[in-house]
Amino acid sequence: MDYDLIIIGGGPGGLTAGIYAMRATLKTLLIEKGAFGGQMTMTDMVENYPGFDNINGFDLSQKFYEHAKKFDLETIQEEVKTVNPLNLSGYEVSLTNGTKYKAHTLILACGGRSRNLEIPGESELYGRGVSYCATCDGFFYRNKTVAVVGGGDTAVEEALYLSKLAKKVYLLHRRDELRAGAILQKRIKSDPKIEILWNSIPIEIKDNGQSVNGLILKNTKTDQQQHIELDGVFIFVGYIPNNTIVPHDVKRTEDGYIITDHRCRTNKNGLYAIGDLRNNYAKQIVIAAADGCVAALDAAQYIEEHKNKNE
Ligand code: NAP
Repeated sequence: MDYDLIIIGGGPGGLTAGIYAMRATLKTLLIEKGAFGGQMTMTDMVENYPGFDNINGFDLSQKFYEHAKKFDLETIQEEVKTVNPLNLSGYEVSLTNGTKYKAHTLILACGGRSRNLEIPGESELYGRGVSYCATCDGFFYRNKTVAVVGGGDTAVEEALYLSKLAKKVYLLHRRDELRAGAILQKRIKSDPKIEILWNSIPIEIKDNGQSVNGLILKNTKTDQQQHIELDGVFIFVGYIPNNTIVPHDVKRTEDGYIITDHRCRTNKNGLYAIGDLRNNYAKQIVIAAADGCVAALDAAQYIEEHKNKNE
């Protein structure tokens, strides 16, 4: 075996797992294909990570990374192509550059991504009025007007959250019936600050040169277009877990989230899934970090018990 533990993904979950693994003296490698910090690097202001009342996402990522490096965590920036279980126990990780590593245990911390609408203005105005996280950015829309796009549980929950802060919330849904559960539907329909625009899809997000100031929507039944003035657009049309490298026999939900127990253990021995990849309740930095701690501590215990196999 090359390592006790390989961590795939260098977001808050993966880096926290690295910190705990190094402190447990596990020989550990962390592989990240992009920037250390993951989705956190693209967040403008983080105001809900304990100990930091207001910190730029990139700066917080640096702190996580430097913290892990302080404990000499070995990191590489490469893309993982496949993950394969070994005969007796352990896993082989193959990179796109052809390199292969073997480890007793593996923590999958590959995260996920919000589904995009792919309309003009969406990517250009990300962080300047376009958001995929009400908990993260809602605070900036106090007494302002925002639109929430989507009709599922997430869209409705986030619209209800935003209505406590914003002056007015439009909920745009492409059909005439919400996908969200009955209780959420009841709550949203009785919220005086929320106006549901049925059969509506956004087709362009407008700006004033600096930030979002409007939205053009289209009625899916009549094709009629309408312009609404607003300050922010929150998009919740689904989330996609990055599960392409996860072995096929690892149990997952219908939506592709990896199913784990309370110690982040998958149905395969020595294989863990943490953070946004896992079927968890809240997609938050603090949750990913907590998962990283739990998985690394359990991996240390697992290695202690199984290290003689495949040595
Ligand atoms: P979701 O259930 O897949 O809902 C996505 C919503 O976005 C749907 O209403 C869908 O419309 C709409 N949509 C998709 N693509 C669109 C597009 N291109 N343009 C406009 N609208 C589009 O996703 P989710 O709300 O993130 O929930 C994911 C899972 O987590 C679900 O199983 C949900 O129940 C669960 N969840 C549960 C809770 C809770 O229990 N408290 C909270 C959050 C999430 P259609 O309805 O027409 O397909």
